[in-house]
Amino acid sequence: MFDYHIHSEFSDDSTEKMSNIVEEAIKKGGKKLCFTEHMEFNYPHEELKFELDYDAYKSEFERIKSIYGKKIDLYMGVEMGIQGNDREIKETIKYAKNHEFDFIIASAHCLEGEDLYSMDPETQNIDEFFTRYFHEMLSVFKQYNDYDVVGHIDLIRRYFLKAHDHKLEKSQDVLRELLSHVINNGKGIEINTGGLFYKSANINPTLDILKLYREMGGEIITIGSDAHVAERVMSNYSKAIEALDTAGFKYVTTFSKREKEFHKIK
Ligand SMILES: [Zn+2]
Ligand SMILES: [Zn+2]
Repeated sequence: MFDYHIHSEFSDDSTEKMSNIVEEAIKKGGKKLCFTEHMEFNYPHEELKFELDYDAYKSEFERIKSIYGKKIDLYMGVEMGIQGNDREIKETIKYAKNHEFDFIIASAHCLEGEDLYSMDPETQNIDEFFTRYFHEMLSVFKQYNDYDVVGHIDLIRRYFLKAHDHKLEKSQDVLRELLSHVINNGKGIEINTGGLFYKSANINPTLDILKLYREMGGEIITIGSDAHVAERVMSNYSKAIEALDTAGFKYVTTFSKREKEFHKIK
């Protein structure tokens, strides 16, 4: 089992100790674990700033690795929050260039400067919303290329129950453009099982997008729990593998020092 999406107390929305997470992962039989702490410029939330203290993170990571590193492979990654404004894009490019990580997830938590989590879904035309969301990501990736996988590419489906009425055909053109941009640039996407704990109860992305990505030639895919507490580390791993298998994937990907490695799923 690999978990490539984990938050500890170095993310503003978690208070979990790294040691608890690692011990739980070992207990569950995990082989590789990559911390992906939040870093986002100008996240529009009063309490959550998502500003990562890189030096403190690195030093605690090294300490934890020296204690547990023989029992489990540990990696230091980041979840870079991306936003569509030029200023944030420039800062993101600079940050990724100047900091060393094993793995970078690029995730859009906002749309047009507003965070999805705080939005009222009732006011949204859901088909249009998907199109705008994919479009904003694509516009960022045309400038920012220093990442490994796109995080929870259909995050809208985690938060907005009515997003489940959305038929892919309605946003397919821009989604195809986004996925082909990702594939042609040698990047990947992730399966994020965190959504199974929300009311929406689905993995992100859902099977329709997984299949489309695979059909288009997408091969690079990581699995992450998006856990913010130790007990959810590596959770629903078998569901992620099942979804990969159904969508036609033969491998799951892990990263070390930004280099990918493929592992047979069966
Ligand atoms: Zn995220
Ligand atoms: Zn996350």
